Amino acid sequence: MIQDPSSLTEPLAGPTTDHPEDLSLPHRFRPWGGEHFESDGDSRWQLALECSGSGAWDWNLLTGEQFHSRRWQEMLGYQAGEIADANHEFVNRVHPDDKALMSAAFNDYLQGRTDSYSADVRLRCKDGSWKWIHTRGTVVSHDAQGRALRMIGIHTDISDRKAAESALRDNEERWKLALESTGDGVWDWHIASGREFFSKRLVEMYGFTQEELAQNPEALDERTHPDDLGPMQNDRQAHFNGLTPTYSNEHRVQCKDGSWKWVHTRGMVISRDDAGKPTRMIGTHTDITDRKNAEALVRQHAYFDPLTNLPNRRMLRDRLEQEIKRSRRDALQLAILFIDLDHFKEVNDTLGHDSGDVLLVEAARRLRQCVRECDTVARMGGDEFTVLLTELTPDTNLESLLQKMLHTMAQVFVLGQEQVFVSASVGVTLYPMDGTELDALYKNADQALYAAKGAGRNRFSFFTPALQEATLARARLTTDLRQALVQQQFQLLYQPIVELATGEVRKSEALLRWHHPERGLISPAAFIPIAETSGLIVDIGEWVFEQALTQVQIWRESLHPAFQISINTSPVQFQHSHAANSNWVMRLLALGLPGNCLSVEITEGVLLDSDDIVTTKLLEWRDAGIQVALDDFGTGYSSLAYLQKFDIDFIKIDQSFVRDLQPQSTNFALCKAMVAMAHALGLQVVAEGVETAAQRDLLLETGCDFAQGYFYARPMAPEGLHVWVTDRNAGLQP
Ligand code: C2E
Ligand code: MG
Ligand code: MG
Repeated sequence: MIQDPSSLTEPLAGPTTDHPEDLSLPHRFRPWGGEHFESDGDSRWQLALECSGSGAWDWNLLTGEQFHSRRWQEMLGYQAGEIADANHEFVNRVHPDDKALMSAAFNDYLQGRTDSYSADVRLRCKDGSWKWIHTRGTVVSHDAQGRALRMIGIHTDISDRKAAESALRDNEERWKLALESTGDGVWDWHIASGREFFSKRLVEMYGFTQEELAQNPEALDERTHPDDLGPMQNDRQAHFNGLTPTYSNEHRVQCKDGSWKWVHTRGMVISRDDAGKPTRMIGTHTDITDRKNAEALVRQHAYFDPLTNLPNRRMLRDRLEQEIKRSRRDALQLAILFIDLDHFKEVNDTLGHDSGDVLLVEAARRLRQCVRECDTVARMGGDEFTVLLTELTPDTNLESLLQKMLHTMAQVFVLGQEQVFVSASVGVTLYPMDGTELDALYKNADQALYAAKGAGRNRFSFFTPALQEATLARARLTTDLRQALVQQQFQLLYQPIVELATGEVRKSEALLRWHHPERGLISPAAFIPIAETSGLIVDIGEWVFEQALTQVQIWRESLHPAFQISINTSPVQFQHSHAANSNWVMRLLALGLPGNCLSVEITEGVLLDSDDIVTTKLLEWRDAGIQVALDDFGTGYSSLAYLQKFDIDFIKIDQSFVRDLQPQSTNFALCKAMVAMAHALGLQVVAEGVETAAQRDLLLETGCDFAQGYFYARPMAPEGLHVWVTDRNAGLQP
């Protein structure tokens, strides 16, 4: 129960005189008269007290009488003696808001709960303003029953200190507000008391109101993600120990609704006790959930293929590195499968990229289904996948798994209205038998895949040392090929193309030869693919073009003014249009040659990949008069659509149809059909690989326009062809 100090006089005692005064005092106590001190021995202390700037009071609890020193009165703005009746004066001056607190302090003291009485209260001054004073006192005499009779104390003016404190508080409030306004939540942890203040913004961040979240550090620690709690506490401790200038940590906190939020908390110890132990720390919480989500997305992008959600090349590399380490430790085996879809490009080109995407997603799903949970299926890009089979034992039946894989991939793919079939080629390499380093294993798998494709696709092929040998040979050839142009190791041979009806020769095909300094003559079939993969074909193609141009100029003068040379091109040359064949028309113009002195042989692959570059090029050539021949016709798609869509002048029936040409054979029927079809479309036909008179006769029968082959002549050096043509035209015989 809290009482007004003045009312305490009542319960304490009725006025009684039978108990001796000053029992507890070492010397006789004389109350102040309010105006002056008597200058006896006691007054020295009284004087000293006055000098300290504090006012003194003396209170008789029996009578309720109170005396206040002159200093006390001055403190409140009075002249000495101006307050005549000091009795009750004090309590009436206490600010109404501070009375309860003062009574409580007083009661606590009188009832022995505290050793002395003290309180901070505001007192009304003469001019009506308020002054903060610190009041302190002790009982100086008791009655026989131990009841307090008299108290003496002092009043100290603490207005300045209070003002400073309030300014500090305002200041703190201000920075807390400022921090809050950044959208961050603020925390203020009084470590000694275990209390922690959370700002409104902070608790709201997690969906709470301020009443709902306890004001102590555990309230948030308990909501911190178990995986993050340890590191968070470590960071905090590091700062406590003075190892870090500030405390900073990112962790997840569970919101009221159960969801998780990522926050960045930053803080700093702002006070420590004498032993250096932190006593107070303040800091903020910044919501970084969006940033974390974005980071996760980026990570997802960096490590996963967005189309199939399979791990990508980078992720696979990471996993493979780990698996190699693990397998090395546990003596396990691994298999790496490089998988390439056969004919995917055709699907993409004919049905569009959307259908291609659907196919890839489905292919990814099928591959995943073929393997175990612990295996990895990754997409390397395009239609290339890699499978990493882990924990293989000698009992693992790899072949049956590979068969299953091929079988699954060969099943029909339904793409909207369309049903398509693709198959897969697989190259396999084993750790540690074939290699122990990641890059070596990748190379092996690639070689094995190359072999599987070369062997006719829809099959798997294991890496072997022989494959390695072949690859090495290819690599050496590539190196040598780079020198070939500079060292002038190339040569063009010419094979005459005979007009069947007249036997006249006004065309020849330029066929490339490479005279390797050590290995002798290398056939184009062996080096063109290497030139293509290395990109060297572009420069080689330019060389062929220039050579042929020079040659045709000569022959137009010496053999026939309408002589034409046909040159072979690779699809790769069309992909590099900006670097190569783009200036062919200009070159012709520059030399004053008409376009029809050249015929460019392309393969269907070029048309299959047809994009704007190809279309534009073909139109450009047509406008310039350059003729176009479709080489090796009948072996690829042989699509009529191409022939109609593009400006083609000739088709060249592949030699495989001519080889077994018999009067009743299918090939004969096919040749007839091809010629009829071409003629219907306004195209002329060249038959390749004519080796016998019988073949020539049959071709004549089909209505075929031109023929070339060993029957007439093998490819020859320019001088040889010149002689051959001159001789032939001299004694013309069909
Ligand atoms: P291709 O364009 O179909 O050339 C015809 C091939 O058949 C030539 O082989 C030729 O020598 C050969 N041949 C000609 N008549 C007969 C015959 O009666 N019987 C047989 N069995 N073969 C005959 P070659 O010169 O080895 O060229 C092979 C392929 O290399 C060419 O096939 C062509 O695709 C490519 N090629 C040749 N020169 C070049 C070139 O300068 N650039 C490009 N990109 N490819 C070229
Ligand atoms: Mg050709
Ligand atoms: Mg051909």
